Amino acid sequence: MGTTIETDEERVLDAVPRKLYIGGKWLEGERGTLIVEDPSTGQALAQVADASPADAVAALDAAADAGSEWAKHPPRERGEILRRAFETIVSRADDLALLMTLEMGKPLKESKAEVLYGAEFLRWFSEEAVRIDGRFAVAPNGQGRLLTMRQPVGPCLLITPWNFPLAMGTRKIGPAIAAGCTMIVKPAQQTPLSMLALTQIFEESGLPGGVLNLVTASSSSQTMAPLIADQRLRKLSFTGSTEVGRALMSQASETLLRLSMELGGNAPFIVFEDADLDAAVEGAVIAKMRNIGEACTAANRFHVAEAVADEFSRKLAARLAAMKVGRGTEEGVEVGPLVDGTQRAKVAELVQDALGKGARTLTGGNTIDGQGYFYEATVIDQIPDDARLLTEEIFGPVAPVKTFSGEDEAITAANATEYGLASYLYTRDIKRALRVSEALETGMIGLNQGMVSNPAAPFGGVKQSGFGREGGREGIEEYLETKYLAINMD
Ligand code: NAP
Repeated sequence: MGTTIETDEERVLDAVPRKLYIGGKWLEGERGTLIVEDPSTGQALAQVADASPADAVAALDAAADAGSEWAKHPPRERGEILRRAFETIVSRADDLALLMTLEMGKPLKESKAEVLYGAEFLRWFSEEAVRIDGRFAVAPNGQGRLLTMRQPVGPCLLITPWNFPLAMGTRKIGPAIAAGCTMIVKPAQQTPLSMLALTQIFEESGLPGGVLNLVTASSSSQTMAPLIADQRLRKLSFTGSTEVGRALMSQASETLLRLSMELGGNAPFIVFEDADLDAAVEGAVIAKMRNIGEACTAANRFHVAEAVADEFSRKLAARLAAMKVGRGTEEGVEVGPLVDGTQRAKVAELVQDALGKGARTLTGGNTIDGQGYFYEATVIDQIPDDARLLTEEIFGPVAPVKTFSGEDEAITAANATEYGLASYLYTRDIKRALRVSEALETGMIGLNQGMVSNPAAPFGGVKQSGFGREGGREGIEEYLETKYLAINMD
């Protein structure tokens, strides 16, 4: 059995191309290779091409050269390429899931869910490719005619994070291909393998060379800077931390680059006294523990009505304490390792800060010794107002529970953050649900459910969680310009 697992791992790793993909060719990186680690062991897993700034510029050359032909490519065929890629991903879902678990650490079941979720964006946008239209109107004075057309923005730079190595890519690549844009994709250096496998699938699906160019690099700031400064680039879509998003926005101001910013979160999870408490606990497990807590939409703070807080915390602690921690490939594992040592040290620091200020541990609270970057599933309560984890993104399996006494207090606490991506709300009172939803300053709300992501819905945030929407009918708008034609009828 052990041998089979090892063989499967070797097989999926061997199948992944390790080079840059530029203008339809797989090329070496000018800077040699960069190492991808297995977070469950800290050992090297693979080496992939390390691009130089000149390699990145070559990718932009290819995207710019392919731009006008691709914009004219029949929408139906653009959609069919996406559809073929969708079908190939689904047929290889188990292998892609294993690859993702190896590079990112999450349990296989969750990787498979991400692979299928990621593929859905390609199916969704394959259907949207043929629904790009404009409008025609008679001018209000009855004389002229007004015609609008929707055209692709042009070459796009798509930068993605490590926490969802495939889906954060397909959410951008799907609408970009559907709209007729060419692109340079830059995955995070911790997890380039899923994106390399996806690029290979697009090649097999008949995507013409130059439409999608993939650059993997160990120095993202150096390699991306010349692209952001280049006037041939027309759009930057970034998913990652607010800090890096701010820096990229500042660079992009030089060329007034069109932007989509999917940034960090600090989601409140509010439980009112009238909620179905067992359902709230189950929702909390999903909202907190999905992706080992390393999700931008992860519940970062639990705000629970005083009357039910003890019961909620006790039940949540029991559920988390029972979750099996281990390598994501092992049977029954529900909590994998954190992505690297830096991420784990940050989680430990935030917990120590809260405990040092008087918080109480109900379960967990420790780094796990041995190889890999494991951290215990943790619930803490009696959180002081100045604990850093109330205002900073934890990005780990740690659930802080805080109490509130009334609706206004819950809303004020929930909104007391610079972020505004997702929030969660548990109540049986429909009027309260609508009242509180209207008052919450987030782009998305889970009402009596612990997950909001859906390819058919607009995903995105407000405040310092960024702007722009991915998925839904809105997703393709990010990749289209509106051109207006004034028609003289005199
Ligand atoms: P990150 O450090 O901001 O990195 C994100 C991407 O940006 C990576 O590909 C990274 O490349 C690249 N990058 C970093 N510095 C750059 C620079 N100066 N110029 C150009 N590219 C640069 O974020 P992360 O740690 O990978 O991801 C976690 C963050 O993403 C969290 O804050 C999370 O909330 C957020 N996130 C948001 C959403 C959303 O939809 N709102 C979804 C998922 C994640 P290298 O890593 O290769 O250097």
